[in-house]
Amino acid sequence: MTDPPGPVRPRPPVRLVHEWEHSPAGTRCQASTVFLVGARCPFACVFCDLGQYTIGGPTPPGAITGQLDWALSRIVHRDRIKLYNASNFFDERAIPAAEDRDIVERLHRFAEVVVECHPCLIGDRCFAFADRLAGRLQVALGLETAHPETLERLNKGMTLADFDRAAETLRRHRIGLRAFVLVGAPFLTASEQHTWTLRSVDHAVAQGAEQVSLIPVRPQAELDGLSSQGKWLQPSFARFESVVESAVDSHGRLVQADLWDLERLSTCAVCLPARRNRLDAMNRDGRIHPAVGCSRCERVAS
Ligand code: SF4
Ligand SMILES: [Zn+2]
Repeated sequence: MTDPPGPVRPRPPVRLVHEWEHSPAGTRCQASTVFLVGARCPFACVFCDLGQYTIGGPTPPGAITGQLDWALSRIVHRDRIKLYNASNFFDERAIPAAEDRDIVERLHRFAEVVVECHPCLIGDRCFAFADRLAGRLQVALGLETAHPETLERLNKGMTLADFDRAAETLRRHRIGLRAFVLVGAPFLTASEQHTWTLRSVDHAVAQGAEQVSLIPVRPQAELDGLSSQGKWLQPSFARFESVVESAVDSHGRLVQADLWDLERLSTCAVCLPARRNRLDAMNRDGRIHPAVGCSRCERVAS
């Protein structure tokens, strides 16, 4: 069940999504994602389109707990809550540290809490937050790609060594790791995109990721410029499916296809629902399901 997207304002949150995921023990669990509105991320990754869900200036006091209260009144389970703020949870401008205690109190009923953060911002605040939680903390880090030169060109302000260091630090503090990996990174050919997405998934798993979310790169202004210079090839739905299949084949339920805004990858409204359902089913059981045929578009790799 998904609430429709709302206008960008401090409350309610942009969106609240309920899905099934896997617990670290491998059992199915309910997961609710709260897309919070707050200050813009200070980094400027060339592929990022999340700025549209942020506000100018720092997040006002009480805005995060207000959005959380709105969301919590609509969540009935106690399994997993994901707080995604289109920025970095442990950035003072995005989530004021003075509110950590109030946030933690509101999350007491959940077995697991997931937040997103840039690898270079993992530190004492993160560890204290984890210690205060009644449940377990998992931090989602954007690996994006393990291709070192491409990672540098993405302008994320992070090296592979930074990611690995953050992963190791989380491990030492018994904090879970989730990784975001791009499908269709710029500066790579179609075949390099496929190869490096899979290598990036391997890398994230080797660094201890319990879950790897595959995120298709979506068009936005900066990428349009790269595209016109031949430096970015937007992934088609078929190429997204293909790389998800390969990743699931290697890592099963550790792989999660990001299903948000899939219509922006698809050119065929006839088969989109069935193909989306297939990926959803693969997310649920970690197995490859039979491909969906379509009399209108047929499945062609671009
Ligand atoms: S660090 Fe994350 S939120 Fe910030 S610009 Fe990069 S992808 Fe976007
Ligand atoms: Zn079709």
